[in-house]
Amino acid sequence: MSGQQNLLRNLPAIDRVLREEPLQKLSQQLPQETLSGAVQDLMTALRQEIIATGQIDSPERLQPEQIAAAAACKCRELLQPSLRKVINATGTLLHTNLGRAPLSSQSLRAINDVAAGYSNLEFELDSGCRGERFSHVESILTQLTGAEAALVVNNNSGAVLLALTALGKGREAVVSRGELVEIGGAFRIPEVMEAGGVILREVGSSNRTHLKDYQQAINENTSLLLKVHTSNYRIVGFTKEVPARDLLPLARENDLILMEDLGSGLLIDLSRYGLEREPTVPEVVKAGVDVITFSGDKLLGGPQAGIIVGRADLIKKLRKHPLARALRIDKLTLAALESTLKLYLKPEQVLQELPVLKMFSAAPELQKHRCQSLLERLMTEPLAAEIRLIEDVSRVGGGAMPLTELPDWAIEINPLKHRTADLAKRLRTFSPAVVTRVHNDRLLVNMRAVFEDEEGLLAQFLISVLRKED
Ligand SMILES: *Cc1c(COP(=O)(O)O)cnc(C)c1O
Repeated sequence: MSGQQNLLRNLPAIDRVLREEPLQKLSQQLPQETLSGAVQDLMTALRQEIIATGQIDSPERLQPEQIAAAAACKCRELLQPSLRKVINATGTLLHTNLGRAPLSSQSLRAINDVAAGYSNLEFELDSGCRGERFSHVESILTQLTGAEAALVVNNNSGAVLLALTALGKGREAVVSRGELVEIGGAFRIPEVMEAGGVILREVGSSNRTHLKDYQQAINENTSLLLKVHTSNYRIVGFTKEVPARDLLPLARENDLILMEDLGSGLLIDLSRYGLEREPTVPEVVKAGVDVITFSGDKLLGGPQAGIIVGRADLIKKLRKHPLARALRIDKLTLAALESTLKLYLKPEQVLQELPVLKMFSAAPELQKHRCQSLLERLMTEPLAAEIRLIEDVSRVGGGAMPLTELPDWAIEINPLKHRTADLAKRLRTFSPAVVTRVHNDRLLVNMRAVFEDEEGLLAQFLISVLRKED
């Protein structure tokens, strides 16, 4: 009993801990209550540990300096940004968890111009009257896609929800069973329909759906035929789906709206860079689909946004719906989106200036060369690791084109002193954090999504975690 009581008695007073140097220093940046709160929390934890176990593993932990150092460490975390820069060495270009598409320098300038001051967000400079925020991108979107009208919202999930709600509430929408997809993060087509009050009419089987299945499902309460891009998976083998253009006559005959959620949505054909050939947005518009939705931050290479293009009368309905207000795009995103779209006016330029497209179209030999340079740089140091150049593949990511693998190269690291997972973890503690892949207990560093100006830091961080004497 006395041992425990002694330990408890030895806990320093909070004021005593607060006088220690690291906390004194922090008192210029953080309020006193935050500092004393952190000390208090640590003391409570120590007290509980002593009461529960009757001891403390190392008595130094009760010293004021030690408690102050631990509290200061916690408090410093508060001053660090939680959302911060990462070097993406995973080889997945539109990594949803790493923020999808990096923006172009044009977009950064546009954001900067608009963010710091006022803008004509909803104001017509010509007339001096109130304007509409969508108007800033509508004409460029209609020009790039050939659609009659366009609208942008917060993201593509929102675009789908808005379109379904505004056009199909209380009525039936016909969807193929093979297209009832879950995009991740609880975006499931059946659930979005339910949220929008649309009655789901599933047709066909998971692998095969025929035109006659759609035909038979149509009744007087049908309002929409919906096609959904199966972005993140593929059904292969004995399959059949009905392309939107084949559904068009059926939609017209029955006076139904034909809607397609393209997911990623391409404005230009990227198949010559090794991506799967899929219809571009202009092609889908041309085929006659009435309403088309896609994301701003997938292969389009812009900010998070949902883009809706299509028939003017339908877009007008969406614009007037209360959900449009709830899902509205913010001004920084709008600035980034407009500047991204402007790059597409010159297709030769867009491949060089839009980071995502530049990364996609980079030749494998170039990637090999970059990996080789990194390898050579690492080899100049005495490192506790076996390192070699290997063939690898990179991926589109962001739930788009799951089967597409771009031929690529990577550095494979077999650490001799650390566990591979620990090494990956240590790389994530740097600033910027480095995110790699671990495969077969080897660390893989893929350079495709690493920017040129990050190469030096990446080498430096790798050296520092792999150094022999470490
Ligand atoms: C990605 C995707 C969505 C969701 O788009 P967000 O912009 O991420 O909200 C919806 N539908 C399909 C088919 C998708 O691929």
